[in-house]
Amino acid sequence: MMFNNRGSRALRLVAICLTLLFVASPAMAAKCGNTSKGFGRWLVQFKKEARKRGISNRTLKRALRGVRYDYSVIKKDRNQKHFKLSFAKFYKMRVSPGGLAKGRSMMRRYRKLLNRIYRVYGVQPRIITAIWSLETFYGGYTGNKPIFRSLATLAYDCRRHKMFTQNLYAALRVVQRGDMHPKRMKGAWAGELGQTQFMAKNYYRYAVDFDGDGKRNLIRSKADALASTANLLRAHGWKRGGCYQPGCHNFNVLNAWNKSRVYQRTIAKMASQL
Ligand code: CA
Repeated sequence: MMFNNRGSRALRLVAICLTLLFVASPAMAAKCGNTSKGFGRWLVQFKKEARKRGISNRTLKRALRGVRYDYSVIKKDRNQKHFKLSFAKFYKMRVSPGGLAKGRSMMRRYRKLLNRIYRVYGVQPRIITAIWSLETFYGGYTGNKPIFRSLATLAYDCRRHKMFTQNLYAALRVVQRGDMHPKRMKGAWAGELGQTQFMAKNYYRYAVDFDGDGKRNLIRSKADALASTANLLRAHGWKRGGCYQPGCHNFNVLNAWNKSRVYQRTIAKMASQL
């Protein structure tokens, strides 16, 4: 009798513990923080959650080994200058006559590729060229920050915790899929990657292998980067060869590329000038 009682009490205790564990688990989600202090603890917890989402140990090791909190990224994040410039000023700053001439020569040089992209995705060569110019000046500067360090820092940081956590998962999935070696994944300070600066979430969802080497490489492959850009626009409703000036359907699709209206108008105007 004594034994039975004790036994059932023990069982009850186990049941209570299990319940507590279950109830407590949402609160155990990797917690954001605003100083470097909690980063290590956050990283351990983040990896646990990543494993639950199907990210392998091997991927986690390859991508996140030695990753550290990068204060320079936070500093950049806090000092962001948003588009306060007028369209006219912004356009003048970003699109020079020399830039347009270069754009026209790039369109000639990559005519075959751009036409092939147009046939498959329906996005005009001039739109792709304008985006390519505005994002990295034709792949000239794609950024040199290791994106896992940036994304982990911003995922841990509280300001845009959720959005960057999702991007960090996506970046890990890009590695796991075999698109790129994590060491080669260098980009802008906030983790934008490649010749047209894709966030990892878009990379995972919209990147295509257009040069046929079996990998989606938006840094090294112009074909992959430009076709992926067209694929993203098509996925958001781009109408084949349609008008893209303000007021037209395709102009609204540019919002999927960049939320800034000034930026959208810059793409549209530059494209028409090309
Ligand atoms: Ca490829």
